[in-house]
Amino acid sequence: MSNPSCWIDPNQDKIREECGVFGIFGIKNAASLTALGLHALQHRGQEACGIASTDGKIFHTERHLGLVGDNFTGEDPSERLKGHISIGHNRYSTAGPTTLRNVQPLFSELHTGGFALAHNGHITNAYTIREQLVEKGAIFQSTSDTEAVIHLIARTKSGEFIDRFVNAIRQVDGGYAFVGMTKDKLVGARDRFGIRPLLIGRLGDAYVLASETCALDMIDAEFIREVDPGEVVVINEDGIRSFTAFPNARRRPCVFEFVYFARPDSVVHGKSVYEVRKRMGMRLAQETPADVDVIIPVPDSGVPAAIGFSQETGTPFELGIIRNHYVGRTFIQPTQQIRDMGVRLKHSANRRMIEGKRVLLVDDSIVRGTTSTKIVRMIKAAGAKEVHFRSASPPIKYPDHYGIDMPTKQKLIAANYSLEAMTEMLEVDSLGFLSIEGLYWAMGEDYRKEDAPQYTDHCFTGDYPTPLIDRDRKLLNGDKQLSFLIEVA
Ligand code: 5GP
Ligand code: MG
Repeated sequence: MSNPSCWIDPNQDKIREECGVFGIFGIKNAASLTALGLHALQHRGQEACGIASTDGKIFHTERHLGLVGDNFTGEDPSERLKGHISIGHNRYSTAGPTTLRNVQPLFSELHTGGFALAHNGHITNAYTIREQLVEKGAIFQSTSDTEAVIHLIARTKSGEFIDRFVNAIRQVDGGYAFVGMTKDKLVGARDRFGIRPLLIGRLGDAYVLASETCALDMIDAEFIREVDPGEVVVINEDGIRSFTAFPNARRRPCVFEFVYFARPDSVVHGKSVYEVRKRMGMRLAQETPADVDVIIPVPDSGVPAAIGFSQETGTPFELGIIRNHYVGRTFIQPTQQIRDMGVRLKHSANRRMIEGKRVLLVDDSIVRGTTSTKIVRMIKAAGAKEVHFRSASPPIKYPDHYGIDMPTKQKLIAANYSLEAMTEMLEVDSLGFLSIEGLYWAMGEDYRKEDAPQYTDHCFTGDYPTPLIDRDRKLLNGDKQLSFLIEVA
C-alpha cells in the first residue's frame, strides 16, 4: 500500500514502500502465529503493523504504529485477537505521517460479509479507479491504494465472494501481493507478473501465506509453493482452491528482492538469497577488481556480497563498520536532514580495521548516494589510505512503481551522473557497479535470453512490465490532493 503522499503526486519522492504480508488458516491462536510471522518479516516494514483475526463469527483487529515486537508482545496476542484465521501486515513508508487509517489490514463490511485485506506492492491505476469511484459517490476511508480494491469488490453486483474478488483484481494493475480474510476463508493473490512475492506454506493441517520463506521458518511451517503470477488462492475448511485471474500471466518477479529486500535466509524463486548475494559479490570482483588490503561491507545489506568479493579475491573480509541495530533502516527517516543523521546514528567506524589500509567498501546498492557519501567520509576520517566503493547491483537509473521506496529520477544519483562524476562526488579512489548481465549470472540466469526465466529489472533498465497509468496521466497535482488525517491511537 502507499502512504498519503502517494495521492499528491505519484512521481514525487518518498511515495513508495515495501511491505510484508502474512496469513494463516485453520489453527488455534492464529493471531499469535501471525505476530511471529510478521516479526520475521519486520525488515519489510517498520513503520506500522496490524493483525486481524476471526473465529468464524466475530472479527478482531488491532493496528499500531511501530514494530511488531513492541505491539504484539507480552500477553498472548490471540487472547485479544481470537480465532483460527488471521492475517497481518507490516507497513513501510518513507514519508509524512503514517496515519492509523492507512495502517493495514483494512477491514470492511461487504454484501458478502466482513473482509480484511493486507497488501504489499503498489497499484499503478489506483488513483484513476479512485477518481472514477469518487465521482460516482464512493466514500473512501483511507488514502491508500489498497482501498480501491475493496471498493471494486463491493461494486461487483453478483457472485460469491471469490468471484467478486477475482473481478476486482482484474481491474487493478501494478505489482501486488494480497492476503485477505473473510469469516470462513483466507485468500491470496499475486499480480499478473508476480512482481511482488507471495508463497504458500503448511503447518500441520493449517495453511500459511507469506511474503518470504523466513516467515515460514519462524513458525516451523513447510514451504509448499509460490502463488503463481495472476493466481488467486482460496483456503477454507475444504483445503486450497486456485483461480486464474489473468490467463496471460507471465512470470517477471522483481530482482530487487534479491538485491535488497528479502532477508538473506529466505529462499526466493527457489534460490537462496544469501547465495545469490554472495555471487553478486564474486562477479563484482571479477568485473571491477581493485588492489586493496581489506574488504569491508556496509552492514547489514552489503555483507553477503562483501563475503563473495573477499572469497573471490582472497583479500581479507573485516567488519570495519559496526552497525547500531537500534535505529531503523536509513530510508525510514523522512527528511534529507534526518536521513543524513540516520546514517551517522546507524554506522560507526571500527578504526583498527581501517587505519593505514586501502579499503574496499561493498554495499548492495547506491540509490541517492547518501549512505555511500557518509560512509566514505567516515572511513577516511578513521585513517584509511585509499577508499574504493563497489555496488553489488547495477546503477539504479529509474524509479520503481511497484511498491519499493525509490525516489524520483532527479534524486537517483546514477540517473544523473556519469561514473566519473559519481566517483568525484563520493570522493572515492574508484567506484564500480555490477553489470546487469552479472546480476542475472548471480541469480543463475541468462540476461534476456529467450526462454530463460525473466525478472523485472526496471530500476536498472527502465523496462517496466506494466503500463504506469496514474503516472502517465500526470494525475494528482494541485487540487487533487487528499487530506491528511492525524489520528491519535
Ligand atoms: P542511498 O543512501 O544511496 O540513497 O541508498 C543506499 C542504501 O540504501 C544502501 O545501503 C541500501 O542497502 C539501502 N537501500 C537500497 N534500496 C532501498 C530501499 O528501497 N529501501 C531502503 N530502506 N533502503 C534501501
Ligand atoms: Mg544498506
